[in-house]
Order: sequence, then C-alpha cells, then structure tokens
Amino acid sequence: MALVQKPRSRFLRIQCPDCGTEQIIFGCPATVVKCITCGKTLAEPKASKGLIKAKILEVLE
Ligand SMILES: [Zn+2]
Repeated sequence: MALVQKPRSRFLRIQCPDCGTEQIIFGCPATVVKCITCGKTLAEPKASKGLIKAKILEVLE
C-alpha cells in the first residue's frame, strides 16, 4: 500500500552543463529557468513537476 503524497516544493542546487555556473532554482518552476551566465535553459515547467536539464548537485528542503 503506497502513501500518496503530493510533490513538495523544493529548491535545487544545480550546475549548468555548459558553463558550470551553480545556481539555486525552485524545483517546480512556473517559468523557464535560464542560466544566469550563459542563458542556457536549465529547467522548464512541466505538468506537476519541473523538467530539470541541468546537473542537480543538491536538493534543499
Ligand atoms: Zn551556463
């Protein structure tokens, strides 16, 4: 029996795969998140949770 939980809002520490810049983003972004340095798209809003295209270094709760 599985306990159904809604996805919790989390912040993620991610690293841009192109330039290596680290930044902290919301885990369920409402808008497209771009790298602050090179402008690469790092995360996109998608259904119930975000689509993360960057390397996740840490999940901050
Ligand atoms: Zn970048």
